Amino acid sequence: MSNDNQVAVVTGAGSGIGRATSIKLAGNGYKVVLVDFNPATGEETLNLIRNEGGECIFVKADVSNQDDVQAYVQKTVDKYGRIDVFFNNAGIIQKFAPFTTVELEEYERIMDINVKGVFLGMKYVIPIMLEQGRGSIINTASSAGIRPEHSIAVYSASKHAVIGSTKGAAIEYANKGIRINAVCPGGIVTPLFKSVGETLEKTGYVPEEMSPMRMGRHGEPDEVAEAVLFLASDKASFMSGSIVSVDGSLTV
Ligand code: NAD
Repeated sequence: MSNDNQVAVVTGAGSGIGRATSIKLAGNGYKVVLVDFNPATGEETLNLIRNEGGECIFVKADVSNQDDVQAYVQKTVDKYGRIDVFFNNAGIIQKFAPFTTVELEEYERIMDINVKGVFLGMKYVIPIMLEQGRGSIINTASSAGIRPEHSIAVYSASKHAVIGSTKGAAIEYANKGIRINAVCPGGIVTPLFKSVGETLEKTGYVPEEMSPMRMGRHGEPDEVAEAVLFLASDKASFMSGSIVSVDGSLTV
């Protein structure tokens, strides 16, 4: 199937990795449905893509809200009639802090968006893909889903859960034409990543360990987008349940 007829849904499309991947998918012929709970940045991504002649729509949705998730799936089907690729990417980071100081509200917010959001997305996209008999889902986990960073245990737990959900769903749908993989970014320069440095500076909290960036640099969102583009495509036809690191060897 040519990419020109294919439809991709991207959550967290207003910023960072989601924006870079939306632009890359559109540049490679996919029609893209941009999902974000921030309409201002979502519309920015929409304009960036349309200015380059790409086809896309923006849908405001909170990925942790069941009604919103059903609505973005329905709007995609109403507009384009199918979902070939689902980049289930929206997520938030926790404040670096000792484990016992994390408030229950923060724990619940992180789990709601990072874990429940990924669950709800797959819950409502998979039935569409089952009807089509094909589809590729890429969940965004994290290097912290493989090896926790110091002082962000709750975030690490949420991303371990994304990996578990990816593998669990992958084995259920492997023989039904749906491939489900996870990408694990680490040290990618995005607004989320920059907010970590700013918060550490503001609070004065210093984690006991920090992972080394062995390539002597951080990563760019576009370097994650390339991996997602590959996993989305039929070039990755024998990959499902794979956990793909894009972290410059951080987790090795
Ligand atoms: P980012 O903050 O730049 O972008 C995240 C986007 O998700 C934002 O546009 C935000 O508005 C949106 N979003 C957040 N919560 C949402 C919700 N409930 N509903 C809808 N949209 C929501 O962050 P990023 O660095 O591009 O992160 C993207 C993903 O990559 C996240 O899942 C993050 O955990 C993961 N990740 C990033 C890094 C990194 O180094 N940047 C490392 C590991 C994992």
